[in-house]
Amino acid sequence: MSKDTINTVTSCCDDFDPESLFPDQARARIQDLLKPVTGTESCPLRDSLNRVLSEDIVSGIDVPSGTNSAMDGYAVHAADLPESGTRTLKLVGTSFAGKPYNGPVNRSECVRIMTGALLPDGTDTVVIQERVEREGDDIRIGADTRAGDNVRNAGEDIARGETVLHKGICLTAADLGLIASLGIPSVQVTRRLRVAFFSTGDELRSIGEPLEDGAIYDSNRYTLYGMLQRLNVEIIDLGVVRDTVAATEQAFHEAADAADVIITSGGVSVGEADYIKDVLQDIGKVDFWKVAMKPGRPLTFGTVGDAWFFGLPGNPVSVMVTFYQFVQPALRYLMGQHECEPVTVSVPCLSSLKKRPGRVEYQRGVLARDDSGRMAVRKTGAQGSGILTSMSRANCFIVLSIDSEGAAPGDVVDVQPFYGIV
Ligand code: AMP
Ligand code: MG
Repeated sequence: MSKDTINTVTSCCDDFDPESLFPDQARARIQDLLKPVTGTESCPLRDSLNRVLSEDIVSGIDVPSGTNSAMDGYAVHAADLPESGTRTLKLVGTSFAGKPYNGPVNRSECVRIMTGALLPDGTDTVVIQERVEREGDDIRIGADTRAGDNVRNAGEDIARGETVLHKGICLTAADLGLIASLGIPSVQVTRRLRVAFFSTGDELRSIGEPLEDGAIYDSNRYTLYGMLQRLNVEIIDLGVVRDTVAATEQAFHEAADAADVIITSGGVSVGEADYIKDVLQDIGKVDFWKVAMKPGRPLTFGTVGDAWFFGLPGNPVSVMVTFYQFVQPALRYLMGQHECEPVTVSVPCLSSLKKRPGRVEYQRGVLARDDSGRMAVRKTGAQGSGILTSMSRANCFIVLSIDSEGAAPGDVVDVQPFYGIV
């Protein structure tokens, strides 16, 4: 990951622009300004996947609720376990999961028991069925089981009164199961964020329209849709906006009325048809507009009325890089999530990577096992900011710090995997 303060030696051959923020500075600046939303709502458990929990979850019960068997076998008194040789116990009944044995079990007696079945009163150890010899009701056990073996104690996973989940986490499949195991049907989560986005560009056509010379299909609204969908926000797609000041202003107003956050793509460079920054200056506020990174340098951040504004560059890869680096952590933070930053791990690189100092680069990589079975990363091929296949083939970013001059095969590099596994 890049550093916050960097001793960049600016020279004639690096790409550092003194007006730019470093990515970590930009991220910190955004987080300083944002205020998490305060609204919460009750959400049925199934619908709470990928929502941010706004209450602590405290268990009202022990899990498991009763002491039970971890194996199929025979429940015995530990005092009956032989120190050596064997001992024969009398079988007096069976305990099934959901249908316990309720009778007494005296010394020298045992009960057939299934996995998950409650241990009958008095017994405290399970001898697994493969370790006994059975003749009718005579059960011969050996000296290879210790007191307490193969038993799951009540409250062993979760004790009554324990806080199992803290507010501020994004709920995973495992969390849904955990909450269900406590018998809780619904949870409090922060309200969904409303996120409006639109594309800018006279060259853009929507799917279904003919493509004349120089026109291209709008792909950014689809990548944005996909990335926002995974965050479980309310999506407001405002379509394609023409490259005029009037159309841009109108779209800004419409978006600010409808949403907590506005995301645009394109129109933030210094070309003659790039109006986003000027319009933001006129009807809102520009906080910063350049980040020392590649791709994604002309990222623009500010506010329009009460809405937060992210002006992403137009190139399809730049959109995804700036979204994952800045917008996603910001949206998570606004939804009250505590850990919002991408996870970074270090692995050897199999490719040769070119880079100039002066900016952080986010190249696209495939994280996989190398020939000797160790995790390593290789780049996905051509890395131009318009080459969307480089993203589609990738499963991680390779992050090269400001001062880095690239990497040779065998060098260790930082990578950010795209998705978690839970
Ligand atoms: P701009 O920042 O508006 O100059 O756009 C930079 C590049 O990204 C240009 O080549 C645009 O044609 C392209 N681009 C802009 N918006 C989109 C979009 N929504 N889908 C695909 N390409 C786009
Ligand atoms: Mg444009």
